[in-house]
Amino acid sequence: MIAFNVPPFTGDEPARVEEAMRGRKLSGDGPFTRKCHEWFETRLPAKRALLTTSCTHALEMAAFLLDIKEGDEVIMPSFTFVSTANAFALRGARIVFVDVEPRTMNMDAGKVIAAMGPRTKAIVVMHYAGVGCDMDAIGAAAARRGIPVVEDAAQAFMARYKGRMLGTIGVFGCYSFHETKNVSCGEGGLLIVNDERYFERAEIVREKGTNRAKFFRGMVDKYTWVDLGSSYLPSELNAAYLYSQLENVEKIQGHRMATWDRYYAGLGGLAQAGRLELPFIPEGREHNAHMFYIKARDIAERQDLIDFLKARGIGSAFHYIPLHSAPQGSRSGRFHGEDRWTTRESERLLRLPLWYGISPEQVDSVVAAVKDFYGRAV
Ligand SMILES: *Cc1c(COP(=O)(O)O)cnc(C)c1O
Repeated sequence: MIAFNVPPFTGDEPARVEEAMRGRKLSGDGPFTRKCHEWFETRLPAKRALLTTSCTHALEMAAFLLDIKEGDEVIMPSFTFVSTANAFALRGARIVFVDVEPRTMNMDAGKVIAAMGPRTKAIVVMHYAGVGCDMDAIGAAAARRGIPVVEDAAQAFMARYKGRMLGTIGVFGCYSFHETKNVSCGEGGLLIVNDERYFERAEIVREKGTNRAKFFRGMVDKYTWVDLGSSYLPSELNAAYLYSQLENVEKIQGHRMATWDRYYAGLGGLAQAGRLELPFIPEGREHNAHMFYIKARDIAERQDLIDFLKARGIGSAFHYIPLHSAPQGSRSGRFHGEDRWTTRESERLLRLPLWYGISPEQVDSVVAAVKDFYGRAV
């Protein structure tokens, strides 16, 4: 059996979690949360990093901080996770879905520009598979109109665009530490605040609308309700687990990158023969081996391949059903322009097992199975 996903675990986590337990400080914003914040602020680097309970919540904070309201329009890809859209739809925005470019499955910058209108209040990019969107083109168009860009960088931790870490380029960047992501604490996320104007309010919104963070720093003598907010901070148990993974980030990333390269080399022949397509990394992007996907000819061939792999004990998974075609998608938004690639390409895409600890032999047997499938199909 080769599972499609196994949550990352290095073996060092229990000691860190026990340390948190023995420290008798389990609620949020304790020593491990501070260590995580420091790690992100120095290593990415980022101006301000705030741990959250999920990437979903980091996106919700971004929508709230940008003051998104009823009647506003927010541009994003249709090929993304529901949370990208929910966060903004919950504030009353209409979602304007745009098409992807087929080679990266990222939002097409030209289509974003075409979809911008007088009601556009934000652009949300999602870096699919940890491969950066065309941030220069999207950023320049947004800046001309004063429209903020939010990065759903859930899949993009440690990936770069022209040398800069994804998540540190837009006004806000949102990471996920869900168990399917490169580093994890089960459920968790991060809001990266790249614009000083939002530092103070981001802290307040995360702490139930109070100035508690300022109080703890001794900057005010009592803390009180100063704004609207909710509870977005994770417990110290989660922060300790995450911190242990951050301490091991080179080991985790090194293994993932080697695994990705092994798939790429192993399946290169089939791609050259035109039997399937492999991921494409445009110039100036450094991906993070978040995912290895292939594209089959069509949805029927993909299903046959899923079944073939399953019969050999190999887990594989397709990905997003385009949001504009989902029941809530048509209520919350509309597709701008032609759906030339989103539906078609999403039906071809299949993800192969890639997780920390998968062995080279296991990767080779997945490669061999895919080759057998196409050999048989000739
Ligand atoms: C995983 C993921 C999310 C959600 O992350 P959670 O931490 O589970 O809330 C959001 N957007 C994208 C693109 C994701 O891949």
